[in-house]
Amino acid sequence: MIELVWLKRDLRSADHEALTAAAARGPVLPVYVIEPELWQQPDSALRHWQFIAESLRELDHDLRQRGQGLLVCEGEILSVLKDLHQRFGLRAVHSHEETGNGWTYQRDRQVAHWLKVVGIEWHQYQQFGVCRPLADRDHWASAWDRFMAQPKHQAPARLQPVVLTQLPPLEHPLGAEHRPCPGRQPGGRYHGLRLLRSFLGQRSRLYRASLSAPAAASHYCARLSTYLAYGCISLREVVQATDTALAEQADASWRASLQAFKSRLYWHCHFIQKLEDQPDIEFVDLYPAMRGLRSDSKPEHLAAWAEGRTGYPMMDACMRQLHHDGWLNFRMRACLMSFASYLLWLPWRDSALHLARQFTDYEPGIHYCQAQMQSGTTGINALRIYNPVKQSLEQDPEGDYIRHWVPELARVPASWIHQPWQLPASLQQQWGVRIGEDYPAPVIDHEAAAREARRLIKLHLQTQPGEQRAEWQEGIRQRHASRKRPRQRRKTPASSHQMTLDL
Ligand SMILES: Cc1cc2nc3c(=O)[nH]c(=O)nc-3n(C[C@H](O)[C@H](O)[C@H](O)COP(=O)(O)OP(=O)(O)OC[C@H]3O[C@@H](n4cnc5c(N)ncnc54)[C@H](O)[C@@H]3O)c2cc1C
Repeated sequence: MIELVWLKRDLRSADHEALTAAAARGPVLPVYVIEPELWQQPDSALRHWQFIAESLRELDHDLRQRGQGLLVCEGEILSVLKDLHQRFGLRAVHSHEETGNGWTYQRDRQVAHWLKVVGIEWHQYQQFGVCRPLADRDHWASAWDRFMAQPKHQAPARLQPVVLTQLPPLEHPLGAEHRPCPGRQPGGRYHGLRLLRSFLGQRSRLYRASLSAPAAASHYCARLSTYLAYGCISLREVVQATDTALAEQADASWRASLQAFKSRLYWHCHFIQKLEDQPDIEFVDLYPAMRGLRSDSKPEHLAAWAEGRTGYPMMDACMRQLHHDGWLNFRMRACLMSFASYLLWLPWRDSALHLARQFTDYEPGIHYCQAQMQSGTTGINALRIYNPVKQSLEQDPEGDYIRHWVPELARVPASWIHQPWQLPASLQQQWGVRIGEDYPAPVIDHEAAAREARRLIKLHLQTQPGEQRAEWQEGIRQRHASRKRPRQRRKTPASSHQMTLDL
């Protein structure tokens, strides 16, 4: 009889409670299952698989040194488990709790049912600050602090071997989308740890000042999201290393940057907890009052946005960087989403799926909550309509970032590059770009589109009774809102909406 460790989004051996606990009970078989149906889901992409495959190779090497290599199987999970049970006899399955997409949620329910029927124990361990089940949000922040302060789980020095394994080639082109991603971060713990060291030791100094501008953020942000999303490093490792760096840092501005970073590590779990508590956040508007607001899906607008051809240089540069690198900083992710939802009036689910396939760090809990926040459908956050021209002027004043990613505008000077549609014909000729031919004219007029969005939202909300809306909002706040900030400091009154155009 063996202990099976089912690896999912936890591709490491350090601080891996499932592996450590299983190893303490007997012979361990660590297994990763390639599930074809998962890779046909509309949020999956080749770049995700490539990162995982590289991480699996490194993990196999690590586990082999400990005595038992990784077994990679391909097939539907229940068939794989049944087969392994027949071959080895499973005493128990060990895995970390996963807050994944709707498909993995249903898959886990089937696994739980089958394991119960055949009498195999399933031990699921908490991987980060997400609680399952969560009784209420009031004590969540202190539970997060306690979890992060606990000692890390030691990787087992020696695993009792079960079977000789050999990794298959892992070269399948898996995923619903196969767009190449030449700037993708390499998978594996080694690279994650290197980034953590360089961030805490040097790059974090300018973190806070560089968060919003996409070019600077690529260097000064931690860039750990993908390593956290696939569990190459544990969140607790990152939090504890950050605490050590904070304790050793005397420079006040550097400390402020480290504090800002630590808050985001907290947000990581805060957002995933929302999807854990309410899985339909992936599919429907959190705030029922917003349902049915954007129903037409305008394929030509979606295509222009998704391919970086909106005629708004900053938006197109961001989308093209994302295609190439699989990563973008927070502010620009928010701008892209806001542009799609408010200015192009696209249903958020369509644009969120496109972004999910482009982000190598796709993490459903963060992703869908942020997609809804930036689309104004949560009911408890201020509605933010980012102005794409203002963002462009503020975050890339010289236009260098735009010129890099939108080479059609390579010769256009800073004074025109943010609104190239205003270029007179003679200057278009001088700087080698014909608007509408070499580079698109804007798909919409952003100021008119923002006005129209505000009008439509107001109209839509007026069709719902105010008391009902207040009740919904209070329910959402009770269930999902962070309790860290004292209530009286909130700027937005409970039942009203604040709309800003000029962020
Ligand atoms: C529409 C939209 C979709 C997003 N989708 C994802 C996603 O699929 N996966 C993902 O990891 N992040 C997502 N984010 C949040 C954020 O943009 C990324 O976490 C961040 O840009 C990753 O880069 P970094 O590791 O250098 O972050 P840093 O700024 O260095 O932050 C460190 C870590 O904190 C966490 N974090 C940072 N910002 C946030 C945030 N706003 N909310 C929650 N956690 C945060 C991440 O784990 C990140 O790795 C999304 C944001 C938006 C607006």
